[in-house]
Amino acid sequence: MLEGKTALVTGSTSGIGLGIACALARQGARLMLNGFGDVEGALATVRALGGEVDYHGADMSKPAEIAAMVAACETRFGSVDVLVNNAGIQHVALVEDFPTERWDAIIAINLSSAFHAMHAALPGMKARNWGRVLNIASAHGLVASAGKSAYVAAKHGIVGLTKAAALETATSGVTVNAICPGWVLTPLVQKQVDARAAAEGVSNDEAKRRLLADKQPSLQFTTPEELGELAVFLCSAAAQNVRGVAWAVDGGWVAQ
Ligand code: NAD
Repeated sequence: MLEGKTALVTGSTSGIGLGIACALARQGARLMLNGFGDVEGALATVRALGGEVDYHGADMSKPAEIAAMVAACETRFGSVDVLVNNAGIQHVALVEDFPTERWDAIIAINLSSAFHAMHAALPGMKARNWGRVLNIASAHGLVASAGKSAYVAAKHGIVGLTKAAALETATSGVTVNAICPGWVLTPLVQKQVDARAAAEGVSNDEAKRRLLADKQPSLQFTTPEELGELAVFLCSAAAQNVRGVAWAVDGGWVAQ
């Protein structure tokens, strides 16, 4: 379905981003990966699916590096047809204890990076009259939790950014949508499981059960593979009139 298209997925060395990159690669897309950590492992995982793949190490807190990454993808593959703004970090603290540096980093990486990437990639998409922007928001783009002020502000912001950009592209072949996962067991969430296990003196499994029981009525984690399949649908022709949505995949979290 995505033969001849290029997808740039930020934060795709791990977790949800890697899951989405694999799903798009299975549809024939060329992939530009980004993120820190196990770059070689991520490249090997996507390469094993058969398509072309490359990597750019832009730090998503740095606007100039984001612009350079989009330009590099256009030079390497000829276009950015699918842009998945996925890179993200978390920090948990009360507002009065929240380090200013962590606030700035979360707003930069979880929100502003999506603006900078769209700013650079939308002109090419509009010129070709085809594009898909998928912003990975969160259930926290729709509702809040205590201790996550920066994350909740950034994720609500990315839902708003998605709606504005969807209206600006509404009569074109470019669509802009957000995906709002609930709990997905990635390194980002495992840290919160570990913190809960330590704070409450329980096992890892019990901490996972409590985390889910608090918020996610299905009592099951959403998987990166499931989110990858939703990304594939949003890239399909059938989704050409899905515009500006914040699509929850959260086991019922925001239905409560
Ligand atoms: P993860 O920690 O597994 O992956 C995060 C990715 O972002 C990694 O590839 C990391 O290298 C990259 N990254 C972090 N800072 C970066 C920077 N400055 N520049 C470039 N890359 C950077 O986490 P994940 O759970 O897969 O999270 C991916 C996205 O999904 C995030 O936006 C997160 O907020 C969102 N999300 C996660 C969950 C969940 O339960 N895991 C739920 C809802 C939304």
